[in-house]
Amino acid sequence: MNVLILGSGQLARMMALSGAPLGIEVRAVDVSNHKVVNPIDKKVMDIHLETAIEAADAISVEFEHIPEPLLEQVNRSGKLMPSVEAISAGADRVKEKALLDKLNIANCPYMIVDDVAKLEQAVAQLGEKLIIKASRNGYDGYGQWRLSSKEQLPDIQQALAELDLKKVPLVVEKMLSFEREVSLVGARAKNGQVAFYPLVENLHHQGQLHTCVAPAPAITPALVAQAEHAFNALVTELNYVGVLAVEFFQMGDTLLVNEIAPRVHNSGHWSMQGADTCQFENHLRAICELPLGSTQVLAPSVMLNVIGCDLPPKDMLSVARTHLHGYMKTPRAKRKMGHINITGNDYAELGAAMQKLQKWLS
Ligand code: ADP
Ligand code: MG
Repeated sequence: MNVLILGSGQLARMMALSGAPLGIEVRAVDVSNHKVVNPIDKKVMDIHLETAIEAADAISVEFEHIPEPLLEQVNRSGKLMPSVEAISAGADRVKEKALLDKLNIANCPYMIVDDVAKLEQAVAQLGEKLIIKASRNGYDGYGQWRLSSKEQLPDIQQALAELDLKKVPLVVEKMLSFEREVSLVGARAKNGQVAFYPLVENLHHQGQLHTCVAPAPAITPALVAQAEHAFNALVTELNYVGVLAVEFFQMGDTLLVNEIAPRVHNSGHWSMQGADTCQFENHLRAICELPLGSTQVLAPSVMLNVIGCDLPPKDMLSVARTHLHGYMKTPRAKRKMGHINITGNDYAELGAAMQKLQKWLS
């Protein structure tokens, strides 16, 4: 079988690595120049985009910000999964909020702002602690501005004056003081079968994920039910095929959706060691119409992102039950370079392994 992925970064690479044993060949499209590449070594392949689209059994994405003409071209093949509607809901916060509201899924209080002057109204409505998000092209905390008091408003308004807000409005959210962030990754097959990984806890630094604990500690059945209800409502509405990630803020007994990612997700990387079938294989199984694999947890896990620096020296592998996944990229500030998966019998063991790893992590 042959799968084409739009985007040629680490997510396409990990899909290719997990597809190989199943005989699924994964090709990727570099969305900046439309070249077809082998996602494992990033080498340009001697095949045109049109031919690759033609040859693919299924086409999917590794990120949601796909230029519209490319997305339309691929969509005409009838092989794109998940749908354009699902991909656009992940790419455009205005559409995402409309979808959540339509489905009555609890999310963070917000206001859509298409004129910097209206930020004052947002302060009146939502309070002076705000997080201001560009509705498109933001990820890993890019395209976000934080307002912690009214006094900062003129500075922020000035910083935003350059943006064309009529074209790309802002989604202004109340800054929540949540207890923690959790996410749900699951896969849905064409026949409607759904497989959930457990809720995981995500720790962020400067708007970017750095640590993920799977399963999240102290999760109640009521929280799981809310998360799975939101996921089911979304995939049913979108007639979704593939892996979907839903990020939540936990406020006491309630989960509020932060955002959705219509693709494999950084908070599912632990599943490469910690679950029976990893998210990458399950995404391929879903879009290739193969039976979904078991998402059973094999061991509690921690995933640590390596961000903006070289990978740690391989001596770190001397720490038992530690696995390194490098993405073959050159370091740049805030760039995800790889991740470390650690498994253990319990959280205490994971904590001890993390302590041992410290000396290799900057
Ligand atoms: P991205 O697309 O960059 O992941 P998010 O909307 O998930 O954008 O925001 C990144 C991070 O910023 C979140 O994981 C969370 O830590 C923080 N954040 C986002 N929105 C809010 C909010 N309304 N209140 C408090 N923190 C927030
Ligand atoms: Mg996010």
